[in-house]
Amino acid sequence: MDAKKDFVADCLFCRIAAGEIPSKIIYQDEDVLAFLDIQPQAKYHILLIPRRHVANSLNDLEQEDDQVIFKILLTARNIARELGIDQSGYRLVANTGRDAGQSVFHLHFHLLGGASLGLFGTPAGYVDNAE
Ligand code: 5GP
Ligand code: ZN
Repeated sequence: MDAKKDFVADCLFCRIAAGEIPSKIIYQDEDVLAFLDIQPQAKYHILLIPRRHVANSLNDLEQEDDQVIFKILLTARNIARELGIDQSGYRLVANTGRDAGQSVFHLHFHLLGGASLGLFGTPAGYVDNAE
């Protein structure tokens, strides 16, 4: 699948952004769409995407994408505020590639919160991170 397109016909999130596949939209403007994840992993689990297919993942993000990425970060922050979890805490995640379990190759961020999210990743046995 090519990166940097307005619309990729076989991309699930392009189709959601176009309204071809229904979703529960939390926020939208001309650049950004935020909608509920169909399989929530936390009390609040929202996906934030650029409307355009600017990248398959963080791996092919480019400098010219800076504005839409910043807008996504601000949108995540605003949604967290509106949900009342900005002070209790939340997590913003961009799964990238196989080891992270990325399953949809239209760049997206998961906003997770609403209760304690527990430990991050699979730390068992990895004690040499700082070396
Ligand atoms: P990834 O695993 O690529 O980081 O995240 C893809 C996310 O898309 C998953 O959390 C999955 O539950 C969600 N997802 C997959 N299909 C659909 C769908 O049709 N609608 C919505 N709203 N979310 C979906
Ligand atoms: Zn797409």
